[in-house]
Amino acid sequence: MSNPAQRANKLFVKTFGTLADALYAAPGRVNLIGEHTDYNDGFVLPAAINFHTIIAIKRREDNKFRAVSDAFPGEMKEWIFAEEGDTPESLEWVDYLKGFSAAMAVSGLAPKGLDLAIVSNVPLGAGLSSSAALEVAFGTAVNDASQIKLSPLAIAQLAQRGENQYVGCACGIMDQMISALGKQDHALLIDCLDLDSEAVSIPDNLSLIIINSNVKRGLVESEYNLRRQQCEQVAQHFHLDSLRHLELTTLDAAVNELSDVCYRRAKHVITENRRTQNAAWALESGNISQLSTLMAESHISMRDDFEITVPEIDFLVEIISKVIGEKGGVRMTGGGFGGCVVALVDHELTDAVVAAVENRYFEKTGIEAAIYLCSASDGAKRLDQ
Ligand code: ADP
Ligand code: MG
Repeated sequence: MSNPAQRANKLFVKTFGTLADALYAAPGRVNLIGEHTDYNDGFVLPAAINFHTIIAIKRREDNKFRAVSDAFPGEMKEWIFAEEGDTPESLEWVDYLKGFSAAMAVSGLAPKGLDLAIVSNVPLGAGLSSSAALEVAFGTAVNDASQIKLSPLAIAQLAQRGENQYVGCACGIMDQMISALGKQDHALLIDCLDLDSEAVSIPDNLSLIIINSNVKRGLVESEYNLRRQQCEQVAQHFHLDSLRHLELTTLDAAVNELSDVCYRRAKHVITENRRTQNAAWALESGNISQLSTLMAESHISMRDDFEITVPEIDFLVEIISKVIGEKGGVRMTGGGFGGCVVALVDHELTDAVVAAVENRYFEKTGIEAAIYLCSASDGAKRLDQ
């Protein structure tokens, strides 16, 4: 089977009858720790992964875009750049691209049109952020083809704005930022308050394993929005812009003024911010037993205080943590209610982790898990042809 770049070139030629000018790639991502903290102006620690969305492009002289994707064979989509528009009634894949161009239009940017062929090996809807990979690959292509000179951070911000305002998903900035700014063999500690980021090296002896529970994700959007509201409610109670500025001692002192649910939601966010900063230090200094503890605590906080895990995910974490002990960390990653588990484990334990999942998960749940052995990758870029 040809590699994704070759497949993108092939799809381009097959669709448009001519060779592409250039190829762009943007990665999916996994969040090592810092869940539901991005929209609370907190800290996150994601890594870009070696699963990519690749776009082959050819510049056009007008402001029209035409796009095909191998994920939706036979569907050619067309739109004109100037069309801004509101959130579409029924969402289509091309709306992630239209969202980016709408965000550009609002910012007064006017690129030339492109013909695009998209190929991806980021699984769609699995929690590895195929949507950000698509938006950021597109943004990187548009930016470079029209020589607009946006920074990777500016591309990430436009991508987030497009997804918030056009696609209608109230996501934070993490997914787009890590897809744009990822660094090989590193995670990125992002301060979502000022969008400052710092690369944190992942020790050589650790494997990055992602296990997709393949649990059908229901209620994700409504539960996500509910969590956002609960966090905002607590911030408002203390007359703060966000939970970033709330100390645990202040929250604890006001425990009787809040509902039990709101108290626990805020407690998760405050403690998760601290764990995320500590995990970055633990990773940087190779203190794997501390990383192990912090990831375990993060999982418990997501399970008991933020209440976003499901039994299948808790089971995966339980069986993997029994295998790895203090020689690695494991926790749910992503928005919750299904999705994936991330494990950072000593290389010598990789096979044992895979075996434990294969032997026990299906037997207990009747669902096959998908296991991805990953490495931390660079962010979006133009590929040499
Ligand atoms: P996630 O970002 O976790 O993978 P989302 O629901 O946020 O899940 O985004 C998935 C959606 O993004 C898909 O249903 C599709 O509309 C769009 N998408 C992502 N990757 C591609 C692709 N390669 N081609 C076309 N559409 C894509
Ligand atoms: Mg997404």
